[in-house]
Amino acid sequence: MDYLPVFLRLGAEPAVVVGGGRVAARKAEWLARAGAHVTVIAPELLPELQAQVGLGRLRHCAASFAPEHLDGAALVVAATDEPAVNLAVSDAARVRGIPVNVVDQAELSTFIFPAIVDRSPLIVAVSSAGAAPVLARRVRESLEALLPARLGELARFMGERRRQVRRALGALARRAFWESVVSGPVAERLLSGEEAAAEQAFARELLSSQLTSARAGGAGAPGEVYLIGAGPGDPDLLTLRALQLLQQADVILYDRLVPEAILERARRDAERIFVGKEVGDSGQQQRINELLVRLARQGKRVARLKGGDPLVFGRGGEELEVLTAHGIPWRVVPGITAALGAAAAAGMPLTHRGLSQSVTLVTGHADATLDWRTLAGTDRTVVFYMGVRQLPRIVARLRAAGAASTLPAALIERASLPGQRVLRARLADIALLARRERAAAPAVLIVGPVAAFAGAAAPAVPEAARA
Ligand code: SAH
Repeated sequence: MDYLPVFLRLGAEPAVVVGGGRVAARKAEWLARAGAHVTVIAPELLPELQAQVGLGRLRHCAASFAPEHLDGAALVVAATDEPAVNLAVSDAARVRGIPVNVVDQAELSTFIFPAIVDRSPLIVAVSSAGAAPVLARRVRESLEALLPARLGELARFMGERRRQVRRALGALARRAFWESVVSGPVAERLLSGEEAAAEQAFARELLSSQLTSARAGGAGAPGEVYLIGAGPGDPDLLTLRALQLLQQADVILYDRLVPEAILERARRDAERIFVGKEVGDSGQQQRINELLVRLARQGKRVARLKGGDPLVFGRGGEELEVLTAHGIPWRVVPGITAALGAAAAAGMPLTHRGLSQSVTLVTGHADATLDWRTLAGTDRTVVFYMGVRQLPRIVARLRAAGAASTLPAALIERASLPGQRVLRARLADIALLARRERAAAPAVLIVGPVAAFAGAAAPAVPEAARA
């Protein structure tokens, strides 16, 4: 480790920035944000720096650098494009024992600026010790995307309640309590912007912790269930909320459609339970419902992870009914449903001016209860889920209801997953093509004029296949 990461308290301390250009402006801005009293030393200033001086945010000393400028400074930054000046600043600072940073010159510096993710009061600083600034920036971007936007509000919320909790709970119980705050309903509500609900959850949780520690072995907090859409399969297509809740869950119940790459994004020590249904096993949904209720009653946070969107052909509605009937709290996190994942994969719009006015998501079970006449219309898009086995019957029903043999169709297999394929044909030929190509589930059949969309000639390689 070449540098020791520390967070410097600069509140009201004098800091000096030598240089009047854009880089100097950026550094001065950071120092001022951290509360330092910043003086900029430069014969002339950029207008943006001048404006800051006008607002009283910075002081300006209109002079060429002289070592005495550093007297009394807590910190110095040299950001001029004159090597001799930068060197002089570095020397003068070292003689005085003042920490100094010369921008982009680690050998003249005693400290460097990290890349920062600012969720004040929570701050993440990233540095590669100058070895790979682009990599450090990339790490910062990844963290930026991963850390919820309201994380700072959560940190502040917790900070404001530390005294209260210290009074209410002993050291041991306190730790467990804060753990439950950051990974439970309080954090989750707050990160969703529901401050009032977070306050209520906090009060409930604190009371329950007090009762539990008063009579050890008492009942814990009630669990809850997160019904999460995993999207079509590529982990990058998960929502940020899905990732957050997967990090919190104690148990994960997942379906056949959820790939390992997505499970890897879940909390490492979460228990995983595979609940994929075998075709024709009608009792399985009942068992899943019972399992959800039982686990939540044990006080667990249960992630029910389903392919695509949980409320599109996912029987999510039934699970919500069961949970509500048992008084178990739940939340739903939407996912990218297969129709949308497939359309994106194939570069095929689902609606398009002059081609298609509406899109219908329909089960591919191909029974007579569907309104086949409507589905066979030529001004719309129909997406059949779970229809690979029934392809010939779907085609036959559409044709019998008046669809032309030339109506465009496309079968999109494994959208967003390795092995993704797009098969296109006239409606009359699509079943034959699928058989010849040995198409298999998961796949959606898209029928309608958009299936021959001209812009869709070259489907992109899925991200997952490229990795
Ligand atoms: N809730 C899911 C659908 C579950 S039904 C959703 O919203 O997507 C299962 C059907 O979804 C499969 O038979 C297939 O038709 C479709 N499907 C799921 N993932 C898919 C994928 N990656 N590519 C193509 N079709 C997919």
